[in-house]
Amino acid sequence: MRNFDKSQEAYNEAVDLMPGGVNSPVRAFQSVGMSPIFMEQGKGSKITDIDGNEYIDYVLSWGPLILGHADDRVVSSLKEATEKGTSFGTPTILENKLAELVMERVPSVEMLRMVNSGTEATMSALRIARGYTGRNKILKFEGNYHGHSDSLLIKAGSGVATLGLPDSPGVPESIVKNTLTVPYNDVESVRYAFSEYGDDIAAVIAEPVSGNMGVVPPQENFLQELRKITEENGSLLIFDEVMTGFRVGYNCAQGYFGVTPDMTCLGKVIGGGLPVGAYGGKREIIEKVAPTGSIYQAGTLSGNPLAMTAGYQTLSALDESSYEDINQKVDKLVEGYKQASIDYDIPLHVNRAGSMVGFFFTDKPVIDYETAQNANVDYFAQYYRAMIEEGIFLPPSQFEGVFLSTAHTDEDIDKTIQAVRTAFSKIEK
Ligand code: PLP
Repeated sequence: MRNFDKSQEAYNEAVDLMPGGVNSPVRAFQSVGMSPIFMEQGKGSKITDIDGNEYIDYVLSWGPLILGHADDRVVSSLKEATEKGTSFGTPTILENKLAELVMERVPSVEMLRMVNSGTEATMSALRIARGYTGRNKILKFEGNYHGHSDSLLIKAGSGVATLGLPDSPGVPESIVKNTLTVPYNDVESVRYAFSEYGDDIAAVIAEPVSGNMGVVPPQENFLQELRKITEENGSLLIFDEVMTGFRVGYNCAQGYFGVTPDMTCLGKVIGGGLPVGAYGGKREIIEKVAPTGSIYQAGTLSGNPLAMTAGYQTLSALDESSYEDINQKVDKLVEGYKQASIDYDIPLHVNRAGSMVGFFFTDKPVIDYETAQNANVDYFAQYYRAMIEEGIFLPPSQFEGVFLSTAHTDEDIDKTIQAVRTAFSKIEK
């Protein structure tokens, strides 16, 4: 049995300092019946906790670390950047360099603004959509998580789904009434919402592959239909690619599916492990932001040199073959899970888009928030705890995908499959 004494001690201290002892709810491990594990260090695909236990990591800081932990290129350029000063509050050339790289690869982005998190990116994008169209309402999908700003914390997935919480207290009724929600992958409901409120819908915001109710890809033509309906109604289409951006593929989900939104929100990978977000889109829209336009949005540390450096190094290290490489490892992992589910008679549904993959303990298809709820969370919790014992660190929730990096090796995948087999063999039905 692994020993977690030091983590437990640190947690006992932390609960008096921070709600649940954590600075973001899913880190509390509540849904898997464990206390949080405190990490000490990471290198490549591996992380080590403060008790000295090593794990193959499939969380990767919830997605950003596509090159793995402490990648040499990122670390050495960060050291160099730190020596020169951590923030100036003036433009730096690093911002131009990262912006150019993003614009080269993301079809919809003709101009962008850097911010400090995915939440800031989506929150700002909504303000701009409202300012640009002069309309009030936005339409989002049940189980899509777009960060924790008021307008978007309605029927949100992620931690809200993991903890089984209702929509958050503290979100005013006046805001709730301007957020319409419909099931993911349900074009008819989108059409209905537009038939009722079309003139007042500023934007439809969607995760082009949903990653916050587990991984749920768009069904055929779903994104194309969203593009069509928004165009017909003079609304903007916003893709929240905070998770999918540079994760699903080299040109993000919009390149992968061939649908170009009006605006795109980014985060995670573009910060290479430092706090970064960005929103971008058609030049005529983004130019409406201050100081060229009158829609206000600002940030003391936005575009800071360290974050720009980590993001630039990370994106520079990725090419098309990086995704082929990750995809092959995902293929192998998926095969291993499927075989284990047959051999140990465990219901398993696998959803996948490019290198984004999620495993649900159900034999029914998962296409939206409701069907995601069919997944057996008790099986998940048992499997989760067994995987920790086997040295595999997964997101502690049935409703999150797993993330692979270029640093994961074939040997890592083999070990993981072996661990899955052990874990499945122990699940009490
Ligand atoms: N949008 C999506 C799709 C996300 O997955 C997340 C975070 O997981 C966010 C927005 C919020 O990003 P952040 O946690 O950086 O604020």
